[in-house]
Amino acid sequence: MEQIEVDVLFVGAGPASLAAAYRLSALIKKNNLPNISIAIIEKSKEPGDHILSGAVMDPSALRELIPDFIERGAPVDTPVKRDDVMFLTRNGKFTFPILPPAFQNHGNFILSAGKLTQWLGEQVQKMGVDIFFATPGAEILYDGERVIGVRTAPRGLNKSGEKKNNFQPEVDIKAKVTILGEGAFGSLSQSLIQKLNLSLGKKRQHFSLGVKEIWEISRENHEEARVIHTLGFPLKFGTFGGGWIYQMKNNQVSIGFVVGLDYSNPDMDVQEELQKYKTHPLIAKLLTGGKQIAYGAKTISEGGYFSMPRLYGDGFLLIGESGGFLNLARLKGIHLAMKSGMLAAETVVESLRKNDFSKAALSDYEKRFEASWAKKELWNSRYFYQIFNPGKKEDWQTLRYQPRLSKRDRSNKLSDLYLSGVYHEEDQPSHIVILDNNICHMRCRQEYGNPCQNFCPAGVFEIVGDEKLLRLSPSNCVHCKTCQIKDPYQIVLWKVPEGGGGPRYKSM
Ligand SMILES: Cc1cc2nc3c(=O)[nH]c(=O)nc-3n(C[C@H](O)[C@H](O)[C@H](O)COP(=O)(O)OP(=O)(O)OC[C@H]3O[C@@H](n4cnc5c(N)ncnc54)[C@H](O)[C@@H]3O)c2cc1C
Repeated sequence: MEQIEVDVLFVGAGPASLAAAYRLSALIKKNNLPNISIAIIEKSKEPGDHILSGAVMDPSALRELIPDFIERGAPVDTPVKRDDVMFLTRNGKFTFPILPPAFQNHGNFILSAGKLTQWLGEQVQKMGVDIFFATPGAEILYDGERVIGVRTAPRGLNKSGEKKNNFQPEVDIKAKVTILGEGAFGSLSQSLIQKLNLSLGKKRQHFSLGVKEIWEISRENHEEARVIHTLGFPLKFGTFGGGWIYQMKNNQVSIGFVVGLDYSNPDMDVQEELQKYKTHPLIAKLLTGGKQIAYGAKTISEGGYFSMPRLYGDGFLLIGESGGFLNLARLKGIHLAMKSGMLAAETVVESLRKNDFSKAALSDYEKRFEASWAKKELWNSRYFYQIFNPGKKEDWQTLRYQPRLSKRDRSNKLSDLYLSGVYHEEDQPSHIVILDNNICHMRCRQEYGNPCQNFCPAGVFEIVGDEKLLRLSPSNCVHCKTCQIKDPYQIVLWKVPEGGGGPRYKSM
């Protein structure tokens, strides 16, 4: 097996890792530290392909990182001009007379997080850092409890796991410090959190699923730079979630819907909720004469401050949403992800100077976080999740009993999916593994009606034929990982597929 050694390894090229790598390179130069090697591995084929966000961005972290970001062409094209929060009934709306502070977006930008990520990637590459695309981290390498690097996924295996002509083996990338910036429910981060019990004494982490579409609308309906957040329709009382409408430039609108994955109704289908949302007169009118141009789905870490795991240990740090950096009250995580990355970089440069990557040395990251504005922001909204969700159970434990098979028409999902650009090499081992099919057919059908058909926003799970067997289409997967989070028996395992597979969002 091939082995590579670097000083610092980042997993994931999202806003967290890219901000970290940029800051780290700058600090290495400033401190005259010679011959430090940094590598970033990213599972998507191209920059930003797996990034999906609303997005209204608070620019505070970006301003700190690259003060002249506007002059340098950061794609932050639309400063917010008008901001509303509304409660929707089936056909009506009530606009909040006063904007709650968390929803105030004056000074923020509507943007594509995917495009921002591409731009940040370019800035990082200009600093001389290598980003290895189509390179998923499949396994963490340990020496006892010390993280010593990551094993990448092999490429070129067929469905039965045999080598094809284009086979390329796994590579072990060894690093003095491994920084996990995989986003929400990162597969390596989750396994690390479990193995080292990093959530001991913390509240459970919870997730929500966000489904997003981009539309090109008619010029008459367009009001550039307007932001609307909604509560109410189509969700029933007791289900946590809401919608957004962000009007960008070029007559484009980002429309999306988020639902907390601690819902109880096995029939819940977030993609379908978004379709219902679009029938509300406010949105239906906006979209009349328009055309949908993109679709995607992704999960969000929503637990907040009390659900953040320990962020450091021997040889590793957790940054961005992998570490729970997200302010649910504001539905914002980009600035926190970036800030966490910058704090991690400041810690790592000290470790490089002292050649000490122990848990004690890296605990400095938590101290820096505790003293930062990011902590203050997360602290101020620390009860937000708990107010709405008492959170006594894991997200997979909340479904209520439903002794009937719920059968869905997948055609809507499949046509939406086309607009996500999703692509996986078909002839490869399934990256979604059902550990016990008997449970699906014998228990889940009777007890919950096979809710996987509903909770997956990409139609990966389907019940087919007279025998009503479960059929998987892993090549449809958009990497949101809702299946592993919500499956009521915890028998669905999401693993990274061969590098380069997944959605191709470009502008989400
Ligand atoms: C629906 C939705 C709406 C949102 N709206 C907003 C908003 O309006 N404003 C805002 O500020 N925030 C918003 N957020 C949150 C924000 O997008 C995230 O907090 C932010 O993108 C997190 O950055 P990150 O770098 O931690 O992770 P991500 O942006 O998720 O990036 C992680 C990267 O790591 C890669 N990766 C993952 N695992 C591996 C692996 N094993 N090997 C290699 N690569 C891997 C992924 O492909 C991805 O490119 C929203 C999120 C969602 C889902």
